[in-house]
Amino acid sequence: MPHIFCIANQKGGVGKTTTTVNLAAGLAQVGQRVLIVDLDPQGNATMGSGVDKRTLANTVYDVLLEDVTIAEARQRSPKGGYDVLGANRDLAGAEIELVPLERRDRRLKTALEAVAAEYDFVLIDCPPSLSLLTLNGLTCAHGVIVPMQCEYFALEGLTDLVNTVKQVHANLNRDLQLIGLLRVMYDPRITLQQQVSDQLKAHFGDKVFNTVIPRNVRLAEAPSYGVPGVVFDPSSKGAQAFVAFAQEVVERVANKSLV
Ligand code: ADP
Ligand code: MG
Repeated sequence: MPHIFCIANQKGGVGKTTTTVNLAAGLAQVGQRVLIVDLDPQGNATMGSGVDKRTLANTVYDVLLEDVTIAEARQRSPKGGYDVLGANRDLAGAEIELVPLERRDRRLKTALEAVAAEYDFVLIDCPPSLSLLTLNGLTCAHGVIVPMQCEYFALEGLTDLVNTVKQVHANLNRDLQLIGLLRVMYDPRITLQQQVSDQLKAHFGDKVFNTVIPRNVRLAEAPSYGVPGVVFDPSSKGAQAFVAFAQEVVERVANKSLV
């Protein structure tokens, strides 16, 4: 069984996709077999992996509607070293089309079971909402990784997300845990960020990953080349931080302090 993690935060622009793509590439570099599931109709994880969302014959949308299997719809990231189940605008319609269907919140789970033996990690890039799409992700995941910027309002949004994870745990998926909070786009020179970071550690303890991802322009440039930052400029501070994060995830999984 692979470790299945949702990268989630209901806020947009907080670094979910950057975390998904670079964690996948970092894990691939240390020999892990990885599948990214892009659950965001914006398709940023798909494009950022070098897979053109506009020309895809089949996407996660077709998988959720049970027209094709993951094995038929997945693509290989040309430079990332992992597989991608892509998304595009079609997925926006799934939100409504899934509502009358049976097992509407467990369709991704069923589809993943067929390819489970082929992967060590499945990383699900969630949309910026707590919607039926995110619910499909949370229902099949073992854990949630929450990228966050150390700003005042970040803490406020966290309460809603933690409550959602608790509800899904109680009602739909006993395996689901909040695995960790990843501090991203971090600038240690900003006093408020230090303060919020300290508050996070005081409140969430071990749930805060040791690795901190700095604000780094190379990470922001990489998606326009369709290459994960980790591969685009391996010597950059951002790439090095994501490689360290991938190692921390592998260590935590091995020590069972995670999952
Ligand atoms: P989300 O998926 O949560 O909407 P993204 O990963 O797309 O967030 O990130 C939002 C924007 O911030 C993107 O333009 C991305 O390139 C940029 N970004 C993300 N992480 C970093 C970072 N560590 N340093 C600099 N820019 C970043
Ligand atoms: Mg995104």
